[in-house]
Amino acid sequence: MINVLKRPFSSTSSVMAAVKSYDYLVIGGGSGGISSARRAAEFGVNAAVIEHSRLGGTCVNVGCVPKKVMFMAAMQSEMLHDSKDYGFDIEKKRFNWSKIKQSRDAYIVRLNGIYDKNLGKSKVDVIRGHASFTSDRCIQVGDQLYTGKHIMIATGGEPVVPNIPGAELGMTSDGFFELEDLPKKTAVIGAGYIAVELAGILQELGSDVSLFIRKEKVLRNFDSLISDNCTEEVKNSGMNLVTNSTSVSLSKEADGSLTYTTSRGAFAGFDCVIWAVGRTPNTNINLDKVGVELTSKGDIKVDEFQNTTADKIYALGDVCGKFLLTPVAIAAGRRLAHRLFDNKSDWKLDYSNIPTVVFSHPPIGTIGMTEAEAKAKYGEDKVKVYKSTFTNMYFAVTERKQKTVMKLVCAGPEEKVVGLHMQGLGVDEMLQGFSVAIKMGATKKDFDNTVAIHPTASEELVTLR
Ligand code: FAD
Ligand code: NDP
Repeated sequence: MINVLKRPFSSTSSVMAAVKSYDYLVIGGGSGGISSARRAAEFGVNAAVIEHSRLGGTCVNVGCVPKKVMFMAAMQSEMLHDSKDYGFDIEKKRFNWSKIKQSRDAYIVRLNGIYDKNLGKSKVDVIRGHASFTSDRCIQVGDQLYTGKHIMIATGGEPVVPNIPGAELGMTSDGFFELEDLPKKTAVIGAGYIAVELAGILQELGSDVSLFIRKEKVLRNFDSLISDNCTEEVKNSGMNLVTNSTSVSLSKEADGSLTYTTSRGAFAGFDCVIWAVGRTPNTNINLDKVGVELTSKGDIKVDEFQNTTADKIYALGDVCGKFLLTPVAIAAGRRLAHRLFDNKSDWKLDYSNIPTVVFSHPPIGTIGMTEAEAKAKYGEDKVKVYKSTFTNMYFAVTERKQKTVMKLVCAGPEEKVVGLHMQGLGVDEMLQGFSVAIKMGATKKDFDNTVAIHPTASEELVTLR
C-alpha cells in the first residue's frame, strides 16, 4: 500500500506529484537492497526498492554470476586439456565465446525476471529510475518524490578508471561482460580479485594475456602463502606477468591495436585492455542534503548497526567500502530489516571471520586473519602456524600440475584457529564448511579430533602437523 502525503516543502518544482511514502524505502536493487526490502516486507511493512538499471545489481549483471559462468568455462577448458591423460580421445578444437556469452546473457535475463517476480510476490514496489535526495528526507525519481520512515542506501559501486591519457580506450570488468568475442591479446591492469580472476579466465580460454601489476606480487592483502603461490600460478599458466609497472598512457595505433605505456616501457599489439584497479562507491545522490557523511576514502560512514550520520537513514554493502562481497551485503541487509521491523534491536552483522573465495586458477579460499595480522594482534610467540603443500590426486596422472597450499593460523595456548588460507583445486567448495567451525571458535584440537575423509584434499586440514 502506498501512503500519499502532501508535499512537505515548497521549493520543489510545481510539476511534482504528491510525495509517496513508505515504511521502508531502499535505494538500489542489488544484493543488499533487494534482500533487505524483501525481508522487511515479511514483517508486514510497506517497502519499495528504487533501481535505475537492471534488477540484481552488480553481482547478477556484471559481477559474481557472469564471472562464475566464465570461470566454469575456463575450468572446462582445463579439464579438456587433461582429458587425454585420463584416457579420452578428445581433441580441443575451437572455443566459441559467443555461444557461452549468449547462454550466459539469457541466464541473467532469467535471473532479472526472477528478481522482479520475487519482489512482486513479497509485495515490494519497484520504482524505476535514478534516485537522488532533495531535502526533508525526500528522494526524487523523475518527477516523483518519495519518502520513507526508514531509508536505506545500497547503491553499490563502480569500477575505477585511472586518470591517464587514453584511459578511455580501455574497458573495465563491465566491458569484459559485453565482449562479443575472445580478444586475441589482452592487457589486464591490477593485482586484486578482479584482475586475477579475469586474467585467468581469458588466458585459459585462449587469449594471450599480460597482467600488469604495480609491485612484485598479486593479492598483496592476502596471507603471504596465497600471495606468493598465486603469483607463481599466474606465471605457470603462461601469462606474461609484468611486475613493478605503473600506468603512463594508452594509445591506439593506425591498425587499431592498443599500446600500453608503463614505467617499464611500451607494450604493443593489444586488442583489449582491462582496468581492474579497484572500485569506487556510488554516492552521487545529494547525500549532503540529508546530512549523510562520507569517510575520508569516500565511502558512506556507518556504525556497526549500519546507521549513517543522518537519523533513520542507513547504508550497507559496497557503498560502505567494507568487504565488497554479495553475501555481506545480503546478510547486513537482512539483519537491518530484523532490527528495524522485527524487534531484534541488537541484530547486526558481525564482520569478523568472513569467508571469501577468489576464482583464480586454481581457486583460493580464505577466512580470518593472515599470519602477519595474527602475530601483530597476539604476539609472535603466541601464534602457531601449520602448513601443507601437496599435489591434488587429480594431477597424479596428468601432465599439467598444480600445487595445493594450505595454512592454519592458530592463536593462544588453546590454539584457536583464527585464520585459514588455501589455494588449490576444490578449495572454493571446501571453505564454507570449515568457516562454520572457525566461526564457532574451533581449535586445532577440534580439527585433529575430526576423522578425515579419504581420499580428498580437505582431509589435509584435519591431519596437519
Ligand atoms: P550492487 O549489487 O552494486 O547494487 C547497487 C544497485 O544500486 C545497482 O543495481 C545500481 O544500479 C543501483 N543504483 C546505484 N545508484 C542508484 C541510484 N542513484 N538510483 C537508483 N539505483 C541506483 N562478490 C562475491 O561475493 N562473490 C563473487 O564472486 C563476486 N564477483 C564479483 C565480480 C566482479 C567482476 C565484480 C565487479 C564484483 C564481484 N563481487 C563478488 C562483488 C559483488 O558483486 C558486490 O559486493 C555486491 O554486488 C554488492 O551489493 P550491493 O547491494 O552493495 O551493490
Ligand atoms: P581490489 O581492491 O581487490 O584490487 C585492486 C588492486 O589493484 C589493488 O589492491 C592494487 O593492488 C591494484 N591497483 C590499485 N590502483 C592501481 C593502479 N592505479 N594501477 C595498477 N594497479 C592498481 O579491487 P577489484 O577491483 O579487483 O575488486 C573490488 C572488490 O570486489 C574486491 O575487493 C572484492 O571485495 C570484490 N570482488 C569479489 C570477488 C569474489 O568474491 N570472488 C571477485 C571480484 C571482486 P597493489 O596495491 O598491489 O598494486
